[in-house]
Amino acid sequence: MRKRRPGPFALNIRDIEHRAGEMRQETIDVSAAEKWGEGLVAVAEGENVHVRVRLESVHEGILVSGKVDTTYEGLCSRCLNDVAAPVEVEFQELFAYPGDEATDFEVQDDHVDLETLVRDAIVLSLPFQPVCQPDCPGLDPATGERLTGSSGEEQPEPIDPRWAGLQDYPSDHDDDAPRVGVENTEKS
Ligand SMILES: [Zn+2]
Repeated sequence: MRKRRPGPFALNIRDIEHRAGEMRQETIDVSAAEKWGEGLVAVAEGENVHVRVRLESVHEGILVSGKVDTTYEGLCSRCLNDVAAPVEVEFQELFAYPGDEATDFEVQDDHVDLETLVRDAIVLSLPFQPVCQPDCPGLDPATGERLTGSSGEEQPEPIDPRWAGLQDYPSDHDDDAPRVGVENTEKS
């Protein structure tokens, strides 16, 4: 019986089938048809997946080896900020000619379908505990706010209340920095 028709990761290998020693290279660019991965980070649906592959005809079938790269995104496991990073994985698998014995991957209808191979390689390489930066300090246990210092500045010591007013002097940068305390009082 025929299985499902070739998908976007299927490559026609008719030209090298049963011709041991023949070799060919291919490149595939596909948008992931669904989300890959179930953890804090995953390859999003629609993300571009780039595959470079070498197809070698060997006696038992087609030896497929290559690299896949794409981008994962999700949440930092410490501070829950968004994270996104490239990921590249190598893979190699023999797609056997059908008949001899059951194998995970088979040549079907003059095709090798790399989807499961490529997806599993990527999913297994996704970090279980992704971080937005290697030294992400996570959340403040007291306030639950992010400790991530975007500018690399140290968190200042608690301000002496006598100086707190100075903190509200307008500064020409960091407009987005959260401010607490007195509002700008118009001193003449
Ligand atoms: Zn983080």
